[in-house]
Amino acid sequence: MIYNFSAGPAVLPKEVLQQAASEMLDWHGSGMSVMEMSHRGAEFMSILADAQQNLRELLAVPSNYKILFLQGGAIAENAIVPMNLARLNGSSESAVLDYVCTGSWSVKSIKEAAKYANVHVAADARSLNPAGKFNAIPDESTWKLSANAAYLHLCTNETIDGVEYNFVPKSSAPIVADMSSHILSRVINVADYGVIYGGAQKNIGPAGLTIVIVRDDLLGHALPSCPSAFNWKTVADNDSMYNTPPTYAIYIAGLVFQWIKRQGGVAALEKNNIAKAALLYDFIDHSKLYENRIAKECRSRMNVPFFLRDESLNAQFLSAAKERGLLQLKGHSSVGGMRASIYNAMPYEGVQALVNFMQEFEQRHH
Ligand code: PMP
Repeated sequence: MIYNFSAGPAVLPKEVLQQAASEMLDWHGSGMSVMEMSHRGAEFMSILADAQQNLRELLAVPSNYKILFLQGGAIAENAIVPMNLARLNGSSESAVLDYVCTGSWSVKSIKEAAKYANVHVAADARSLNPAGKFNAIPDESTWKLSANAAYLHLCTNETIDGVEYNFVPKSSAPIVADMSSHILSRVINVADYGVIYGGAQKNIGPAGLTIVIVRDDLLGHALPSCPSAFNWKTVADNDSMYNTPPTYAIYIAGLVFQWIKRQGGVAALEKNNIAKAALLYDFIDHSKLYENRIAKECRSRMNVPFFLRDESLNAQFLSAAKERGLLQLKGHSSVGGMRASIYNAMPYEGVQALVNFMQEFEQRHH
């Protein structure tokens, strides 16, 4: 048995892969693979409409929000967001964009947005940590929000650092959230946000698809220089068909949405995700060998970074884990140590197998 703890691209539900395999050569009697279909044909149009509708249901997306299927990933959105919103309150030259910096992905978003407008970092979690590391979210009361920001940007789950928001901050500006690594893992109230975006390759499907959920009044403000394929209004007006969308990735995402519905929806997955995360964090917290350094109230349920107190055991740990079929546990190079990503498609048994292995490894090396 193999369990894949990759941060992304990541594990997908086996049922989804099996269904895709069985439909690979002939989708529903069409005589074609989804990959071969015209994106404007009736068959693919039905796949797209279904995927959009199911995502709308799963997240209870209100009718005044559009769901867009784009390309470019969340890194492209780092530029696309300011290109679409910097002019919201008038000219882009004077625009202020508020960002809260809670990890490596926030850092990237901030750097990119600064090419398009004045970025104001309202809070930076590194200031809380003597070693300048990301391990907490600064208390909301300390955030220095601008009076006239076009938006407030958050990365609500920091995939590399393992820091997740458990609250929605108060903001008079629309909140733009990078939810790449925890979308559909917990119940959210979409109306709390102006824009939600994320790459698909964690909880949704294959890489190559980017999801943007945007409130209607935030459409139509793009900078004149914004590429048409990334102008949210153009994409929305063309129902994500302005350019050829990533058709196969949308098809797989659609199968994942159906799978989530069969599991009982996002609330049911959230329950399972809470149980999985509790199992792993509780074990780590009671161990003498392993430690997690993130403040308890903002530990990510999806990405669990941990360290071996004796780092000389790292290579041995990874190779012994691999022998047991526990894959992709090496931490991101900027953080070091280990990281277990336990997305929706990781079953509870996978986390249990990891904990069993970690326990045995600790016993062998205490
Ligand atoms: N933001 C977050 C939170 C991420 O986890 C990632 C990918 N790991 C990105 C942005 C970048 O996504 P992409 O490489 O798809 O552009």
